[in-house]
Amino acid sequence: MLNIKVIRLVLRSLIKQYFIILIKLLTNMMLLIATIMSFTLLAQQKNNVLHLCVDPDWMPFEGVINGKHTGIASDYLRIFTQLTPYTFNVKTTNSWQESTDNLKSGKCDLTLMLNRTAKREKYLTFTMPYFFGPNVLISNKDKPFMQGLTAIGDMTLGVVSGYRLLEEIPLYYPSIKLKILSSEEEALIAVDNGEVDVYVGSLYSTSLAIKQLQLSSLKINGWILLQDKLRMGFTKKHSHLIPLFNQAIDNISTKQHNEILNRWSNVQIVKLTDHTLLYYIAGISGLVFLVFLWRYLIALKIFAALNYKNQELEQIRTELLIANKNLEYLSFHDNLTQLYNRHYFMATLEDHFNYVIRKKCISAILMIDLDYFKKINDEHGHSIGDKILQQFSAILSNALRAGDIAARWGGEEFIVLLPKANQEQSMATAKRLLRAVNTYDFEYNIRLTISIGISQYKKNDNIESWIERSDLALYQAKNEGRNCIEVST
Ligand code: GH3
Ligand code: MG
Ligand code: MG
Repeated sequence: MLNIKVIRLVLRSLIKQYFIILIKLLTNMMLLIATIMSFTLLAQQKNNVLHLCVDPDWMPFEGVINGKHTGIASDYLRIFTQLTPYTFNVKTTNSWQESTDNLKSGKCDLTLMLNRTAKREKYLTFTMPYFFGPNVLISNKDKPFMQGLTAIGDMTLGVVSGYRLLEEIPLYYPSIKLKILSSEEEALIAVDNGEVDVYVGSLYSTSLAIKQLQLSSLKINGWILLQDKLRMGFTKKHSHLIPLFNQAIDNISTKQHNEILNRWSNVQIVKLTDHTLLYYIAGISGLVFLVFLWRYLIALKIFAALNYKNQELEQIRTELLIANKNLEYLSFHDNLTQLYNRHYFMATLEDHFNYVIRKKCISAILMIDLDYFKKINDEHGHSIGDKILQQFSAILSNALRAGDIAARWGGEEFIVLLPKANQEQSMATAKRLLRAVNTYDFEYNIRLTISIGISQYKKNDNIESWIERSDLALYQAKNEGRNCIEVST
């Protein structure tokens, strides 16, 4: 009996032990499964990247500088990354308008800092507000202090397109004349220029922009009751995340809020210009410059070659001109005496003859022959004879007036045209010449005499008859014994 009791007891305790172990095992397994599940969920959530749209130009709230999201919003984003299982992918845009378009079309899932408005509520769901800031009125310094939007009266108020104020001011103040501008920067410049009288915007962003743009003629001229209550806005598709993010906002400490505000409330943002475009422009300009330089150098080379060729051509032209002049000289002059030749004399005489006929004026021809020249040649040689011919030519040239034309007629015979000379004048010239030859000291004590025949132009003379009469007069002079002058009758 006792044994049966003992066995029962042992069995009962064994079964109890077995169940305890079984329950413990099951509990542990469930815990394990729960842990694995929560880890998987977390991992899944961490993989869920949220696409974030930002305002690229709304410092100090947020901005994109050198492709990096910055400002108050970026500090809060870091906190949200820590407090929630989400990571954020910043989709950069060129304007706030483009960002809101992306939110509407679902290209972005959320935005970090914006006011709740009726229009925005159509496509966004908002968290509770987590950043509060006043809105102020900005005008030129000469404008009086304005308290609230009612003080604007009939002045023009600048508002940035897509901003909450543009949605709300017409609702509460429908009489205010609005001018819509594309950015806060543009709006402040418009106030500075006088295009817009007043601008309304956030105290933080406007005071920073005024500092950045160095618009020293602008001032904060008053504030408005509409305060910025900035929240996160999620697209409707992500509205289930609102409680999670409200929880995160609740967990942000006052210290964290203050740190962020202090960091950004009095900061001068130095906008580093994106130099890429500048580099492109510089590169292209450099390339264009090099091409131009290359072309210029080639042009310079061609120009130098052309210049050289031109110089060569110019030289050839000068040489040709000289040669032509020489040819002309040679064709008109006698080589030995440098007096005009017979050909030139005849051409000149023809011209003059026509003139004489036309003007019915007087003129004379002298025909001159050196006496016994053959003898000089015979006694002193031909080259001395040549020299005597040259010396006589010089005497002849000196004895004449400007305008008289002397030429070598042939051998030791010379002809002179005395334009407008009457008989008296032509005789005087002939005598002057005769005397000059007689008194001249030729080399080797040579005594030279000449005979001269004069023919005054006569009515009915032609060129031939006029010359012939001078020749006849010369012939007469020879017959008279030489070294004398005869005038044709
Ligand atoms: P007349 O007084 O009759 O004129 O006698 P002349 O000796 O001067 O005449 P003539 O016609 O008999 O001789 C002319 C000479 O002139 C002959 C010729 O050799 C010479 N004569 C002609 N042309 C030249 C020349 O260019 N140079 C030299 N040295 N002599 C020349
Ligand atoms: Mg002679
Ligand atoms: Mg002769």
